[in-house]
Amino acid sequence: MSDQAPVSDDSVARVAGPGMVMAFHYDLYDASANKIESSKAGNPVLCLHGERGVLLALQEAFVGKVAGDDFSITIPHGRAYGRHYPDRVQRLARKKIDGGKQQTFRPGQIITLRGEHGPSPATVIKVGKFNLDVDMNHPLAGVDLTFDVQVVDVREATASEVAHGHAHGVGGHQHA
Ligand code: ZN
Repeated sequence: MSDQAPVSDDSVARVAGPGMVMAFHYDLYDASANKIESSKAGNPVLCLHGERGVLLALQEAFVGKVAGDDFSITIPHGRAYGRHYPDRVQRLARKKIDGGKQQTFRPGQIITLRGEHGPSPATVIKVGKFNLDVDMNHPLAGVDLTFDVQVVDVREATASEVAHGHAHGVGGHQHA
């Protein structure tokens, strides 16, 4: 299978949707307009329409967009990373986490907990002498997300992108 992008007529604007790869920049804000992250320090993000790992509600907002379009979308946490469960905030004995190695922890640090269902990430929220308070919710759980998006490019997906289910190239999935 060829990995060359299909030749298309450049006079026709390519429209985002199934079978297309979107290249875009975004700024992400919480409900208080605090900037959470931005793509602008690097390459545009590439996304094959329908790609797993990219919020579905964001991808839906792309449908019909062309290169040069700007849009803003607010995604309630129920369609983003879900609600914040208070019972996933727990106080754990430090020695259960560092095995008594006197590791240094700081609030905001992401650590890996080993549980019965395998390793899971957690955010340190408070550091005590003998205990750590950790939050095992996704860092964006309970957060309503507003994306300000600039569509940089829309192109047809290559055959191998469709076969793999993700976009390839700079800003997308890199592999040989
Ligand atoms: Zn691939």
